[in-house]
Amino acid sequence: MQIVRELDPLRNAVAALKADGALALVPTMGALHEGHLTLVREARRLAAHVAVSIFVNPRQFGPREDLAKYPRQLERDCELLEAEGVSLVWAPGVEAMYPAGYATNVSVSGVSEGLCGEARPGHFDGVATVVCKLFNQVRPDMALFGEKDWQQLAVIRRMARDLDLVLPHAGAIRGVPTVREADGLALSSRNAYLSPTDRAAAVALPTGMKAAIAAIRAGTPIAQATARLKAELVEAGFASVDYAEVRDAASLAPVEALDADPARLFVAARIGGTRLIDNMPV
Ligand code: AMP
Repeated sequence: MQIVRELDPLRNAVAALKADGALALVPTMGALHEGHLTLVREARRLAAHVAVSIFVNPRQFGPREDLAKYPRQLERDCELLEAEGVSLVWAPGVEAMYPAGYATNVSVSGVSEGLCGEARPGHFDGVATVVCKLFNQVRPDMALFGEKDWQQLAVIRRMARDLDLVLPHAGAIRGVPTVREADGLALSSRNAYLSPTDRAAAVALPTGMKAAIAAIRAGTPIAQATARLKAELVEAGFASVDYAEVRDAASLAPVEALDADPARLFVAARIGGTRLIDNMPV
């Protein structure tokens, strides 16, 4: 496994791997857990070689967010990736990704509006910009992303289509189902911030979501079920709820009543200073 931190060696490493077969990219911010490793295993199944990027992207953090304290553990991450048979780790420093004078922004409208786009202004511009750069740097045959960040996946798919990014086919951007703890909490690098008390209370997020979905399926109006879910989360110990909304799974347009199109419940809520997100099919 090669670990590269600058663009020139990256280009050489990528050329050698692509000469040998298909290359899959798994973009991450590191602090790897089983969710990330599930993406890597799926990538290994689909391609001869897997490249994993590890980059805590400053442009996707707001001014009052957790950029400084975001967990960084490159050495341990590389050990995990080596054990998974990854060929290449692309771990640029901020200067390699955004050299002095950097001035370009990729902004996707539509699917990036509302939900996390509203709660975290500028977040999806940062995501789209860095993923566009990663695609151009690595030129992978496919890229894998977690459904945990459903809106992010929609933004990236839209960007790749709109900018004619060089990916060989429509299915080249793959979503992988959310990996969860035994009690249902979605794995996240940010779960490491939770105190034992908050971790125990956080289970109310997936259990409350499942209950809201069951209620909606049984005929409870969506607005009533999401209002009840918000109240339950606060009662369980969450400090606040950024949103709890049902949206169309593909367009992310708000859904007021279920119809034939797939819909999903999206929630972001804060507990003990940590912001957790989740989404599930309705
Ligand atoms: P991050 O390091 O948080 O930027 O995540 C890197 C990739 O891993 C993204 O595509 C995430 O959607 C994905 N991911 C994060 N958590 C999970 C999870 N619990 N299950 C599946 N994929 C995940």
